[in-house]
Formats: sequence, structure tokens, C-alpha cells
Amino acid sequence: AQNEKDSQYIVSSWAKDHYHRLLLNTDEGQGIGLSYLRQRGLNQTTIKTFELGYSLDQWDDLLKSATAAGFERKYLEKTGLVITKEDDQGQDTGRRYDRFRGRVMFPIHNVSGRVIGFGARTLKPNDKTAKYLNSPESEIYHKSDVLYGLYQGRQAIRTEELCYLVEGYLDVLSLHQGGIKNVVASSGTSLTDGQIRLIKRYTDNVTVLYDGDAAGIRASLRGIDMLLEGGLNVRVVLFPDGDDPDSYIRKVGDQRFKDHLENASQDFIQFKTDLVSREAAQDPVKKAEAIREVLQSISKVPDPIKRQVFLQQTSQAFSIDEQVLISEYNKLVRNAS
Ligand code: ATP
Ligand code: MN
Ligand code: MN
Ligand code: MN
Repeated sequence: AQNEKDSQYIVSSWAKDHYHRLLLNTDEGQGIGLSYLRQRGLNQTTIKTFELGYSLDQWDDLLKSATAAGFERKYLEKTGLVITKEDDQGQDTGRRYDRFRGRVMFPIHNVSGRVIGFGARTLKPNDKTAKYLNSPESEIYHKSDVLYGLYQGRQAIRTEELCYLVEGYLDVLSLHQGGIKNVVASSGTSLTDGQIRLIKRYTDNVTVLYDGDAAGIRASLRGIDMLLEGGLNVRVVLFPDGDDPDSYIRKVGDQRFKDHLENASQDFIQFKTDLVSREAAQDPVKKAEAIREVLQSISKVPDPIKRQVFLQQTSQAFSIDEQVLISEYNKLVRNAS
């Protein structure tokens, strides 16, 4: 089985080099892929560091090139680089084609730097297919245990003692290029426990930088509870509606972006309290509901001392007597178990 896996690593690494070469050294790659990345503000260093690439807009460029280079079809299929068309009975029709065509390629590395899969963005404005495609699960690629950018950012996460968590590939790339290298994305999935355990190997501190839209805020609320349960210290930075970290750093520049991270960073109690109390306004029923929401999050924190501090903060934030709040909290925990 080790040989099987090694073959998949080798073909993935070869494909990464192939896509990278197409991006830099072909007319189509330069004219379409590279000019797109340039227009998104990425420089040569970033493109090299993350080994970005381009897949030609053809059905079987990778299949042909890999075959010519001596790779067995089996491994191209196992890594999902090539798709085999089956008929209704699940029989091989003999028709095969590249999964990634005419897309900018983002190789996904594991923590030891081996390429295990790809993310790929379409360059067609009206593409009917997904904006982003990912490699399928394979023996070497387990989506839920991978963080994009961790390989390139792991040193900075250790020295800064902080990990920024973003939604997308471009967010990782733009921040990294702007000097914020301690950044990862849970690309291709919503945040998983495996990814949280992975972060915890490097730091206890996470700041969530999700998109400033409704989906991003929902995702950060979900993510926060999971991060708390994982025993991490969680802060949140919001962006204006319609912006994500990538568009925002491009808009305001590196320095103002860093200032924003400093000034707009809230701990999760503040964040959740602001969010739910804004919705609750003066309605006492809604306010009670909002408080329970916050208590719910606090109950996920494994450290009893931190829980105590958060309960104090919440009582102040909502101007609720601390003893009342604590008895409410105890009730909630009892009912949950
Ligand atoms: P861009 O700036 O290039 O438009 P983005 O990263 O801001 O992309 P979002 O729509 O905010 O795109 O999505 C965040 C992340 O979610 C993406 O980077 C990608 O990993 C994933 N994603 C988005 N759309 C899809 C999709 N259709 N299929 C699979 N994954 C997707
Ligand atoms: Mn979004
Ligand atoms: Mn974006
Ligand atoms: Mn986005």
C-alpha cells in the first residue's frame, strides 16, 4: 500500500510541475492564466512560493503528457486528475478526460510539503460549472485533514503564536504576499475537527477572518463553536459586507489591512454578543434568546477558568446580574447533558 501511495504522490508532484510550467512557459498559460493572476495582484514570488499553475483548455493535455512521461493511468485516476467515463452499468466506456481544464491551479500541500491534491478556479466569467473544483478524496488526499497554506505558513504560525483562518485560496495568497504569512484556509469544506486538531499542533490562538457576507458570518459562528470546543482561543475580525480578506487588502493596502486586524479584532464573546444583541434590540424575549446563544458557546470552552471569565464578560455585556446568569448557565448545561 505504501508503494500505491508513493505513486500517487509522485504523479501529483509531476502534475504540479506540469501545470506550473504551462502557466509560465506557454502562450495560453501566460495569456490567460498568468495575466489573470497578475490582475488579481499576485506577484512572481507568490506564484513561485505556492507553485501555482494553469491547466490547458483541452480535454486530455494532462492525460497525454503524463502517459508520454510514463505514468500509469491507474494513478492518474486514483488521484482524480483524470476522469474515466462509465456507462449506466458502471462499465468503463474507455473514454477518459482531464478533470481540470482551462483553470488556474492551486496545488495543495500536506505539512511535509508533498502535493496531495489541487484546487482549481475557472477563468470563464459565465462558467456553468463550479467556480472552484477540488481534487476528490483519495488515499493521499483527505480534505478534512488539510489546510491550504499551512505548509507555507507553519513557521510564521509558530513564531507569531497565532493562526489566521480564512475561507479561500486567494485570501491565503494575498495575505501571505502582504506579509501576513500565518494564514490558512479550510478550502473545499467547512471547518472540520481534523483541521482544528491540525492548527492546535502549531498554536492555541486563532483569529477568524471570514467573508463579510451573510454566508461568511454564519460560517464563522459555526466555526467559532467548533474552535472553542477544540480548546482554542478564538478572536474574530469582520470585513465590510461584500469584501473578503483578499478584496479588502487589495483595496486598502497592506498597512491599513494590518491596522484593521489590530483594531477590529474582537474576542468571540464580544463578537457574538454584538451580533445577537443587535438582532435582539430591546425585545426582552429576543434578548433572553440571545443570551442563551452566547451561553451555549461558552459551554463549549473546555477550560473552566476561561468559562468563568467569559461568564463575567457576558453578564457585563448584557447588564445581567452575574448570579442570575450563572444559574441560567447551569440550567442550560444540565439540560444539554
Ligand atoms: P474568488 O475571490 O476567486 O472569487 P473566493 O475564495 O473569494 O474566490 P468564495 O465564493 O468566497 O470564493 O468561496 C470561498 C472558498 O470556498 C473558495 O476559495 C473555495 O475553496 C470554496 N468554493 C467556492 N465556491 C465553490 C464551489 N462552487 N465549489 C467548491 N468549492 C467552492
Ligand atoms: Mn464568500
Ligand atoms: Mn474572493
Ligand atoms: Mn471570498
